[in-house]
Amino acid sequence: MSMKKNKNCPMRLHWPIEDVVAFAKRYALTHGLLCLVPDNLDQATMVPFSLFPSPYSYSHFKFIWSIQTAYNRLYNRLSLDDEVLERSLSSVIPIDDFIGRLWRIHRTVPRRQPIQLDLYRNDYMRDTKTDKMRQIEFNTISSAFAGLTGTVADIHKAVLRYALDNCHVRELKINEENTSSKSSIDLILPNNALKKSAEAMVKAFELYNNPRACILFLIVPNERNVCDQNALIDAVEKLQLNIRFYSKTFEQLSDELEYDEKTFNIYLKPSHDEVAIVYFRAGYIPDHYTDEKCWLVREYIEQSRAIKCPTARSQLAGFKIVQEYLTREGIVEKYIEDKDLAGKIRSTFASMFTFDDEQTRNQHIETLRRNLHDYVLKPNREGGGNNKYDDEILPILQNSNGNELSNYIAMEKIHPPVCSTCLIKPNGKHLLHVECINEIGIYGTMVTNVETNEEYINEVTGYLVRTKTTDTNEGGVATGYSVLDCLNFNENTSELAKIFSQKA
Ligand code: ADP
Ligand code: MG
Repeated sequence: MSMKKNKNCPMRLHWPIEDVVAFAKRYALTHGLLCLVPDNLDQATMVPFSLFPSPYSYSHFKFIWSIQTAYNRLYNRLSLDDEVLERSLSSVIPIDDFIGRLWRIHRTVPRRQPIQLDLYRNDYMRDTKTDKMRQIEFNTISSAFAGLTGTVADIHKAVLRYALDNCHVRELKINEENTSSKSSIDLILPNNALKKSAEAMVKAFELYNNPRACILFLIVPNERNVCDQNALIDAVEKLQLNIRFYSKTFEQLSDELEYDEKTFNIYLKPSHDEVAIVYFRAGYIPDHYTDEKCWLVREYIEQSRAIKCPTARSQLAGFKIVQEYLTREGIVEKYIEDKDLAGKIRSTFASMFTFDDEQTRNQHIETLRRNLHDYVLKPNREGGGNNKYDDEILPILQNSNGNELSNYIAMEKIHPPVCSTCLIKPNGKHLLHVECINEIGIYGTMVTNVETNEEYINEVTGYLVRTKTTDTNEGGVATGYSVLDCLNFNENTSELAKIFSQKA
């Protein structure tokens, strides 16, 4: 018997929450929210996720969604602007071997492919101080989880249906803007990140114009995030059945990649398949290049006719020092003529500074020293676990005579609103009813001809929500700090948390 919504009737689960957790885990395991177990690649385990969607402000979400195509264009144009790229990277090119090498590859090899494919992810946190969305970083390489984020929405829909059936209320009715009342389940937004990434890849493949060519995923050895990556392969195959895919590491390619100096095509041994697209899920940190041969592979790919996702210049545009450079006067406006749009993009910039200018260096060091807890010190590295927080910053400041500080940007620390949720992790390490914060990533795709400036595709495609406890500084799902999540645009923000709460 189901009971009607009634003020005297608290919305609580009839069943213990462990029952819902078990349901959610089974759903995750059987619907492919999986990664491989470290040190045992024969076994899969679930990717950590939240039990129900986090409450979020629809207007803030809509805002970052609405500016993503402009952001796509901004980064695309920036990546083609050698002068601005060089100015923004000039202080790190001589001292950071990794950036220096990428820069030299970019500057020395000729461009033989005008088609550029970019699969971006723009990460934000909502800042409680200003109530604005602030950009955390813009990812131009290996933007992960487009293949899994839609599965989290499916899990949440199933969990809500399961749980709400076991509450005193059948369904939550809520008002959202001018639309008629909708249930929490209906309000879980569709997430097309995967399908749209696949569409962009297929468009680039068609533009390469050799239907017999293949797509190469460049991966790390012992890759764990295989479901995310293979989901993209499956999604492309759904659109275009007969494309061949290969997943190879730099080490494998140093034996198996053939570069034809006459046609500038690249081929794979032993099949002799011509490579139309190289999609990089490796190559974003120095450790991925274990020896000189790996760098040679990167160089051959860059100078080949293959379409690269990303090109070296697009990767360079994603370094954090470039993010800081974009905040300087006139840079955004150089690429985004529409003043209103440029202003909206600027409104997402957190306050940032660098230490490369002799005139301001000491003043910036002093600002940081006096306000250690108000800033995050971020090096030009990707993949999580690199930033310095609070007292970790001090030793770097004490070494400030050397070059070390020039490798970092300081970014104002963002404090997002806190919500209560349940984090479901493998091996029963769940955290039920913990205080958490969210980071929202917006996916964008671009397929362009950089010689004619034609935009074949420029789209905002989907979103990623990563949630972590308030006492965790770092982020990242693969690194174990965050879990995958989804959003609930309910005005009564704590409603779901209450239902799942075991407290009376
Ligand atoms: P990475 O390239 O390693 O992913 P990020 O810039 O995304 O670098 O930083 C890693 C994590 O650190 C983010 O996911 C976020 O949780 C946290 N973080 C980064 N910048 C800030 C900031 N300005 N304020 C608060 N947290 C931050
Ligand atoms: Mg990040």
